[in-house]
Amino acid sequence: MENGEIPENANEHCPGPQSESAGKSDACQGCPNQEVCATAPKGPDPDLVAIAERMATVKHKILVLSGKGGVGKSTFSAQLSFALAAKDFQVGLLDIDICGPSIPKMLGLEGQDIHQSNLGWSPVYVESNLGVMSIGFMLPNPDEAVIWRGPRKNGLIKQFLKDVYWGELDFLVVDAPPGTSDEHISIVQFLQATGIDGAIIVTTPQQVSLIDVRKEVSFCKKVGVPVLGVVENMSGLCQPLKDFRFLRMTENGEHTDLTEKVIEYMKEKAPEMLDLIAASEIFDSSGGGAAKMCTEMGVPFLGKVPLDPQLCKAAEEGKSCFSEQKCSISAPALKSIVEKLMAKYWCKEMSVEQSSDAHQDAFIHNCPFKFIESWVGVNTLCMCFVDSLCKMILCSYFDVKSFTIWFTAGYRSTAKPDQALDHGGDIPVITVTKVSSSSHLCFYSWNLIKGTAGTTNEAVVFV
Ligand code: SF4
Repeated sequence: MENGEIPENANEHCPGPQSESAGKSDACQGCPNQEVCATAPKGPDPDLVAIAERMATVKHKILVLSGKGGVGKSTFSAQLSFALAAKDFQVGLLDIDICGPSIPKMLGLEGQDIHQSNLGWSPVYVESNLGVMSIGFMLPNPDEAVIWRGPRKNGLIKQFLKDVYWGELDFLVVDAPPGTSDEHISIVQFLQATGIDGAIIVTTPQQVSLIDVRKEVSFCKKVGVPVLGVVENMSGLCQPLKDFRFLRMTENGEHTDLTEKVIEYMKEKAPEMLDLIAASEIFDSSGGGAAKMCTEMGVPFLGKVPLDPQLCKAAEEGKSCFSEQKCSISAPALKSIVEKLMAKYWCKEMSVEQSSDAHQDAFIHNCPFKFIESWVGVNTLCMCFVDSLCKMILCSYFDVKSFTIWFTAGYRSTAKPDQALDHGGDIPVITVTKVSSSSHLCFYSWNLIKGTAGTTNEAVVFV
């Protein structure tokens, strides 16, 4: 029980030997450690201090949850991580689904091992800015079941948080097991002091799955984790008509494959049909699906991702659905969800979350990237936010080599982001202190040399 760790022979819902109720709560009845726990001196868990130190280099922590298994949660976690990494962020993906770790396969990392250095356990890297940690890397045989009781699972989660050396991370995506089990309580308990941005909940549209999502939302509310939004996955099967097989069924259940004939017929009689996307509802969403549930429960709805065989293939092969443009149906849907999340984080970095909900909504609606991009119609843009308000929207030229931005036109707003008060005026020069040269969306910290001299602000630049 060194360092307050939960012993392996502890009861299933062990409250933790350092908790005030250790040895006394109902969950402790019959535990062989009951007497020791009840009498041992209590104090802060030193591991939580170690976790806080490790997590100090991680800017955003996101939990990915689902009420049920089989809804595509791990696929979403994997593709979210790929998408964030493609934006040049430093990303870590932590798989705490200890009994069913599927992340190594979905990232194409099966058979890889974890290495240890004097800094701790090293994640396995897909790319230089995307590292992965999972119990899947520690299993000698992937077919072997992990039959661990709660305390042992919790111990490993703690070790992942305490001992993995991630380095500087923009995002840590945590893929949790389905449901609301001990692992969920543990990860929240261990990370809470370090700040969790929130949870994304993945579901399918049918009622049977949504009932469990409601439980998941209620869990988040109880433990104080904000719900960043709900994703409706497998929202109808969509694929190009030409990728379907066409069968004629006989009375005894056998079938004849007519695909070749049908495709030939279409090519000859109506070739334009081959470009059509065919869609079909797989799950009954007559109850309104996840969007309705979100309205009822007062949580954001992030969007729908269709069931796309190409996305399933990308997950099987451990590839990003955004590369090679193969997932033409699901990739845009996932991209739009990631952009919504980005706007949320972006607002957060600008301290917008401290303002009222109404102000936040106005902010998001009045400063959408796409609107501004098409409105200004230039190749480089900068938006400046101070005290939650968009103070400047400017067209500029950006020199990556000298890390300098020249503003050539712009306006300022002193009240709301959409109220332009002062056109043109100053032409400030900005020195960029952090640059990500290949990204379409980059975050910079800069000093406004002319204007509010010496003040460090935040800017978002499209190049
Ligand atoms: S008595 Fe057993 S179940 Fe209770 S806190 Fe101690 S180890 Fe955990």
